[in-house]
Amino acid sequence: MDFFGHFIDGQEVPSADGATFDSVDPWTREPWARVALGGRVEVERAVAAARRAFDSGPWPRMGYAERGRILHRLADLVEAHADELGMADTRDMGKPISQSRGNDVPRAAMNLRFFADHARLATAEVLPMDSGHHAYTRFEPAGVVAAIAPWNFPLMLETWKIAPALAWGNTVVLKPAEDTPASATLLARLAAEAGMPPGVLNVVHGYGPDSAGQALTEADGVDRITFTGESATGRVIARAAARRLVPVSLELGGKGANLVFADADLDNAVDWSIKAIFTNTGQVCLAGSRLYVQRPVYEEFLARFVAAAEAMTVGDPTLETTQIGPLASAEHHAKVCGYVRSVEAEGGKILTGGLGDGWIVRPTVVVDMPATAPHWREEIFGPVVVVAPFDTEAEAVQAANDTPYGLNAMLFTDNLHRAHRVSAALRAGTVWVNCFFIRDLRAPFGGVGDSGIGREGGTFSREFFTEPKAVVMQINS
Ligand code: NAD
Repeated sequence: MDFFGHFIDGQEVPSADGATFDSVDPWTREPWARVALGGRVEVERAVAAARRAFDSGPWPRMGYAERGRILHRLADLVEAHADELGMADTRDMGKPISQSRGNDVPRAAMNLRFFADHARLATAEVLPMDSGHHAYTRFEPAGVVAAIAPWNFPLMLETWKIAPALAWGNTVVLKPAEDTPASATLLARLAAEAGMPPGVLNVVHGYGPDSAGQALTEADGVDRITFTGESATGRVIARAAARRLVPVSLELGGKGANLVFADADLDNAVDWSIKAIFTNTGQVCLAGSRLYVQRPVYEEFLARFVAAAEAMTVGDPTLETTQIGPLASAEHHAKVCGYVRSVEAEGGKILTGGLGDGWIVRPTVVVDMPATAPHWREEIFGPVVVVAPFDTEAEAVQAANDTPYGLNAMLFTDNLHRAHRVSAALRAGTVWVNCFFIRDLRAPFGGVGDSGIGREGGTFSREFFTEPKAVVMQINS
């Protein structure tokens, strides 16, 4: 079996007590890799290394261009190791290889390049004052960043955090999800090869509560916590951050509404709606898991949507043609199965899909579900969509906003006025019109309500990963 260690102070190391855990391949349901299992000891070592690298190492002092060169070199290496990195995520969590190698790895490289360039090219306002002074803002690195990541887009979301943190001159301790440890160690090995100084990017593996995750949120010497994961975990982390008064960014769960109006281009709406719920086997915070279709096109849309769901290739995620792989772990599979099994008891009906072999859940379309059912309200995080008709725009907006989450929503319409009106009325961090998942890394990304606190992306990442300092100077003596 492959072995993946922690990466601390430029070295790949085992745990002090030699503890390990196995990463299980969700397709074979066999362990495929052994991983160092860290705790408080490894976290303290990693934070101390990051602290030293920040307080006295070259990284925060070398300037944007030189840091950018190293981040670009790392992006080159990520691209050159696309097969290995993509397969690591696929074997860790069952993501179809066409998505891990085809989307996540290029996006990871793009994260590194974008934030390297963004930091180098960023400008800041100078404020001329009538009093004969001017004020300007310095964006100084915050210090040591703790980054805690989920398992659904391992490499892609880890670089989304690491890249801006590093580009702005911080040092990082990353705790990947226990289900997806491999690509983080691979990335740290590549960072060292790219010339990143020791202690700048550290990785500690382990679990969340009573393990490496919790230790990292409580560690002295951490200046920022950036977390992506479940809303319940976000609350625990916010409390830990509050105790030390450390700024925290929380990118949490979602229950995205997808509104298809009768005036939409139905081919386009079906195509994106399928991607919105079944990409990454539905294990997407942004998934369009609540689908509302205007009544005049409800039957036609549903027939096309079901046909497209049934045409998806389900199976071995290492095959290029597979679109739906197994769910990421036994525990997660059991959770999603619970929702599928309870559809009828809750009053709903499965039009297509259901349970497959092993940890497979086939693309599942549910109708006739009462609005109060958990399937409408809770994040299932699997390839399961609930669909209902609506009559008026007001009704659709009301239904979309009837959720504690507010990460994203999407709508399909050819009516320009409706597109703007509904986009404004939806309570969500991102609204997609006639598309899904398209991102500009300059745009704010984050959610309202139970979907999180704060925004990352472009200047929003700069705000979070720096200490903006106002300098006021007298010009006239
Ligand atoms: P999770 O909350 O179970 O775990 C996320 C990470 O937190 C893991 O690394 C875990 O080890 C760690 N952790 C758990 N408990 C902890 C604790 N008490 N202290 C410190 N660390 C702890 O989430 P998950 O199951 O890995 O990921 C799925 C969730 O992530 C879904 O809810 C999904 O919507 C959300 N998500 C959100 C976004 C976004 O951008 N908003 C993106 C992807 C996933």
